[in-house]
Amino acid sequence: MLRSIQFLGSYSGFLFHRLKLHGNHYRLSFITTSTTTRCFRQFRASSIRSESNPDVTSSSSSSAPATSRSIGSARKINFCQSCGGPTKHEIPDGDEKERAICTLCGKIAYENPKMVVGCLIEHDNKILLCKRKIQPSYGLWTLPAGYMEIGESATEGAIRETWEEAGAKVKVISPFAQLDIPLIGQTYLIFLAKLMTPHFSPGPESSECKLFALDDIPYESLSFSSMLITLKLYIEDIKVGKPKFHYGLINKWPGTSPSEIHAYTFDYHLRT
Ligand SMILES: [Zn+2]
Repeated sequence: MLRSIQFLGSYSGFLFHRLKLHGNHYRLSFITTSTTTRCFRQFRASSIRSESNPDVTSSSSSSAPATSRSIGSARKINFCQSCGGPTKHEIPDGDEKERAICTLCGKIAYENPKMVVGCLIEHDNKILLCKRKIQPSYGLWTLPAGYMEIGESATEGAIRETWEEAGAKVKVISPFAQLDIPLIGQTYLIFLAKLMTPHFSPGPESSECKLFALDDIPYESLSFSSMLITLKLYIEDIKVGKPKFHYGLINKWPGTSPSEIHAYTFDYHLRT
């Protein structure tokens, strides 16, 4: 289920740049090509309800919606992952962020965002969703998705997660959306996919898997903001033609409950 990530390459007209700053720390920037429409669009959800995420540890006490990009904070690392020694928390020379530094071996623990990969599976004008049988968001619907593993590609991870959660063998068709959630250090990469055989069944982490017509998507019972946005973008695209490729920032409102999937702004929306 949901389990670093640097992109270097191009997707549907987007060029991704990776700039090395200090040590392990990278920043992404984008160059749009002439085929890309740049849409600085901001979605604002009309009501407050929930994001759920296993990696959320804490957030600030403010309940006001973020009007600018939210900045996530790293989890506290108290012991060195190399030698087990206690750490101190300082900004290393030449760096700009506080890191956990081992007081015995000097190793610096760099924490980077995690990538979640998944599939938006189209079949007979319907979409395959899974009802979660695990926390967080037990009983809510999601696209099959989870943390990418070391040693696998993003597509391999998306296919694996789909098999594990939905018992479905799929063929990836194209990338559909990359959604960054800076506050919690995650990036979602969702692929459009097709069933290779018309069979699916819930895996250990799902209680039910079901194909939903686009008019029947259970918006009030979805598990994560990323899934809500992915489905909205897909349906918008289908209404006017074919799916595009989307990039955007999900800025969760600081202080909102992880289960409040509508508590976000969707910023810097770029699409092919
Ligand atoms: Zn150490």
